[in-house]
Amino acid sequence: HFITFEGGEGAGKSTQIARLKVYLESLGKPVLVTREPGGSPGAEKIRALLLSGEVKDLGPRGEAMLFAAARADHIDTTIKPALERGAWVLCDRYADSTRVYQGEAGVDTDYLKLLETAAVAGVRPELTVLIDIPADIGLKRVARRSQTDDSGGPDRFEGEALNVHERRRRLFIDLAREEAFRFAVVDGTKDPEYVATAIRKAVSDRFAS
Ligand code: C5P
Repeated sequence: HFITFEGGEGAGKSTQIARLKVYLESLGKPVLVTREPGGSPGAEKIRALLLSGEVKDLGPRGEAMLFAAARADHIDTTIKPALERGAWVLCDRYADSTRVYQGEAGVDTDYLKLLETAAVAGVRPELTVLIDIPADIGLKRVARRSQTDDSGGPDRFEGEALNVHERRRRLFIDLAREEAFRFAVVDGTKDPEYVATAIRKAVSDRFAS
């Protein structure tokens, strides 16, 4: 099965993915955790390029192509093989992040759709967990995190203005409404235990056998 996790900065995606992995493994399921941009050696190189800000001169359409290139490689070398051997694939961000982040940056929706169709090659999540959190709360968490760990501070996307983050949040919520058949929206302001329980419930509802 293929489950993706979406949400703004500081929503708690990585914490919750790690918890869901432990839970699924306790049920005897094989689990692969991966992330975007990245998730394969080639795509991680593209990630480093994208997040460093080195390719700022590229322009948003070209940048969207780099995200798509990373995604295509990630799918071919990591996601598809794992799904084929029967693993549960938990992916931190996927095509919805491109719709939201590059969409918010003004890239044409039809162009993004074309790139998405080409990149995903039919590999689409059966469940997308959106961890929703107000932008100011999420950003405060990120600021705290970069003080206490060695992640080197916020990346160039995290450093953007509050209203940009708020617009992304809105776009994620709109998307979850439009494609409600695959989305579960959970309140990321609640404590991690509550969020984990809500996610486990969404998973068992979706994959009830
Ligand atoms: O999930 P994480 O916060 O590590 O994502 C890395 C960064 O890449 C984020 O700051 C996010 O804003 C950015 N990103 C993006 N477009 C995507 C996916 C991620 O701008 N399609």
